[in-house]
Amino acid sequence: MVEVADDFDVAIAGGGIGALTAAVHAARMGRSTLVLGGRAPGGLLLSIERIDGVPGFPEGVAGYELCPMLQEQAADDGAEVRMAELEGLEPAGKGWRLATSDGDVEARAVILATGARLRTLGVKGEERLQGRGVSHCASCDAPLMRDRTVGVVGGGDSALQEALTLADAVGEVIVLHRGDALSAQAAYREPALAHPKISVRYATVVEEVLGDDAVSGVRTHDVASGETQDVELGGLFIYVGLEPNSEYLRGRLDLDDDGRVPTDATLQTDLPGVFAAGIVRRGSLGQAAISAGEGAAAAKAAHRYLNDGAGAEQESTPAASAARGNGGSHG
Ligand SMILES: Cc1cc2nc3c(=O)[nH]c(=O)nc-3n(C[C@H](O)[C@H](O)[C@H](O)COP(=O)(O)OP(=O)(O)OC[C@H]3O[C@@H](n4cnc5c(N)ncnc54)[C@H](O)[C@@H]3O)c2cc1C
Repeated sequence: MVEVADDFDVAIAGGGIGALTAAVHAARMGRSTLVLGGRAPGGLLLSIERIDGVPGFPEGVAGYELCPMLQEQAADDGAEVRMAELEGLEPAGKGWRLATSDGDVEARAVILATGARLRTLGVKGEERLQGRGVSHCASCDAPLMRDRTVGVVGGGDSALQEALTLADAVGEVIVLHRGDALSAQAAYREPALAHPKISVRYATVVEEVLGDDAVSGVRTHDVASGETQDVELGGLFIYVGLEPNSEYLRGRLDLDDDGRVPTDATLQTDLPGVFAAGIVRRGSLGQAAISAGEGAAAAKAAHRYLNDGAGAEQESTPAASAARGNGGSHG
């Protein structure tokens, strides 16, 4: 018999903007709310020097400023935030028992907002030199690479946004892009192409990261000419897409081919009372404001589910009962 430490109306897995926004809204609707915030709160945004496109911050906002604010807001609204990971879930009564890195908990509704991590290249030398010149965090590691020439792998928004951050701090930035055109939005593409410290090598695939104790360069393959070349670099920043954090769902939920969680229009998954929000969700569009909006929508859907669905047949907290039938809509 597994001992269950706690019982919540809504448990939210994830520590990023999607999860923390869901927590704010679930707690404000009177639901006892637990956030399983993973190992470190903040998600992908935490290390971004200047997050663009978040309403209310016309000049952008630093991840290290925004992420603690989100967590504080969720806690102030009554959500309990624990630094624990969701490891699996199984039906229990009319809700779910969640196995976490901090013991089991139960919840009548669950919101999965576990986001994604940056993809690796999977080439020789990359893993060995991780933290020794290979990085996924421009704002953290740029100050250590002053005056060096560094490489950025990728051609999308993340790659060019981070190339611009790096260009403020390092000597030179070479963007290594496998395609023949950059896919980044104009707001990043144009300043990057105009920047005197940034150059782009197209049709270039990184085959190996070179260096003994630290990155000394990369071996590249030119897709057009077939030529191999060694490029001298003092650091390498990799932004070649995202890998959803959804492994803990395998065997419980059918994921799509990319590992993302399918939902219906109300953000409910195939499992009753289990919702998904943010970039772990199939069809989510990859911006912070969108993850936040989905988090709020999933909280609202979970609240409705608890009012109307199977979860409503169970006892809930007095605060939840008071909130029933009143989702607090501004609409
Ligand atoms: C380099 C870069 C720059 C970007 N710049 C911008 C920008 O300027 N503007 C913008 O709008 N967007 C930007 N984005 C996109 C933005 O980061 C994402 O849209 C946003 O972070 C998604 O939020 P999320 O909450 O869905 O997921 P995430 O931010 O990925 O958060 C998921 C959280 O869940 C945690 N977690 C994982 N597994 C578990 C588990 N099993 N249990 C519990 N917790 C778990 C993770 O540790 C993480 O804290 C950028 C992305 C990158 C990579």
